Amino acid sequence: DMTIKGFDDELWTAIQNENRRQEDHIELIASENYASPRVLEAQGSQLTNKYAEGYPGKRYYGGCEYVDVAERLAIERAKQLFGAAYANVQPHSGSQANAAVYMALLNPGDHVLGMSLAHGGHLTHGAKVNFSGKIYNAAQYGLNEKTGEIDYAQVERLAQEHKPKMIVAGFSAYSRVVDWQRFREIADKVGAYLFVDMAHVAGLVAAGIYPNPVSIADVTTTTTHKTLRGPRGGIILAKTNPEIEKKLNSMIFPGTQGGPLMHVIAAKAVAFKEALDPAFKTYQQQVLNNSRAMAKVMMDRGYQVVSNGTDNHLFLVSFIDKGITGKDVEAALGEAHITVNKNAVPNDPQSPFITSGIRIGTPAITTRGFGEKESRELAGWICDILDRLGDASVRAAVKAKAEEICRRFPVYEASRP
Ligand code: PLP
Repeated sequence: DMTIKGFDDELWTAIQNENRRQEDHIELIASENYASPRVLEAQGSQLTNKYAEGYPGKRYYGGCEYVDVAERLAIERAKQLFGAAYANVQPHSGSQANAAVYMALLNPGDHVLGMSLAHGGHLTHGAKVNFSGKIYNAAQYGLNEKTGEIDYAQVERLAQEHKPKMIVAGFSAYSRVVDWQRFREIADKVGAYLFVDMAHVAGLVAAGIYPNPVSIADVTTTTTHKTLRGPRGGIILAKTNPEIEKKLNSMIFPGTQGGPLMHVIAAKAVAFKEALDPAFKTYQQQVLNNSRAMAKVMMDRGYQVVSNGTDNHLFLVSFIDKGITGKDVEAALGEAHITVNKNAVPNDPQSPFITSGIRIGTPAITTRGFGEKESRELAGWICDILDRLGDASVRAAVKAKAEEICRRFPVYEASRP
């Protein structure tokens, strides 16, 4: 018997508990999703055993003939899915993909311009605590506080001032459509590369319901595990530019990574095939419809949604006017089996560990089958808890409803024997 159960019960129990948590909690973390059983099958395969440093047909190890097939499938499908001329499917994560882009295009100390973490950017977009803010000289843009939308005038002003060699567009917490072309024009004015990190919206982009940046940016990266619903990992995409492609490939391997995770690359290939299916477009449209439905209920109930709505899979709720914190809201909703993350909002008076807001995303609930009806109901329950944040009986009542709806919309249990 080679199972974990009976060999390592402590670990086995943790895994079982996590499986159960994923089934019976409502997942609203915008960066999470439920990968398909096929994706899990590839990730749990023997491909994890194989060393394959290099690229298909040019490996530093023998025995790569079958993993070459897997990587070529992943590359071709990624290119087709996003209309890219180039794809590197080896980055172990989104951050690894981004690190390789910085190192391929820049020298230490070069100026970059990215979106500030506090306004919705990612750590790797120039935050001080991250390699991107330590090794490079990073200026940071943010939102227009009146509209809650990206302040393009500020982007342009900072670009003129700092003369960055690279501008980073993309976000972890922004509910509107980014004007990629506007970023391109600003980058061209100052002679900067335009690097787009579409990690959050890649699934919507693949489905054609969010603008595709690949032909506009010099380089585009994404994670594969968010709206795209694949395995945990990253990829790099580009339009035709052989010089940049060569640099990117060599900055992933041997520049920043060793052996690629061939089981994860196989899982990426599966996920891209799933994303090429017409059903994926229906799924992504539902993700957007659910996000809009939830945001509307919360606004109708008097809660402030940053930028007053959403054009994608997520939105931010600000509690600055209510005097409650994101930390307390995250904990209260958690008690009711609703999982969100606290999130800084524009002009937040609280520290990043406390915050005055939460981020809500619909990719995971949509995968398990929630439609607009369920999404509206759920947003109503969230408001019930927020309206009376000190009231444990409201949380208990919502928890019962959350467990009931989770039973009606199983994630993996329906597909298990
Ligand atoms: N880029 C963006 C915009 C993200 O939101 C994230 C993750 O949250 C990443 C990159 C990093 O991805 P990973 O966690 O795989 O390193």
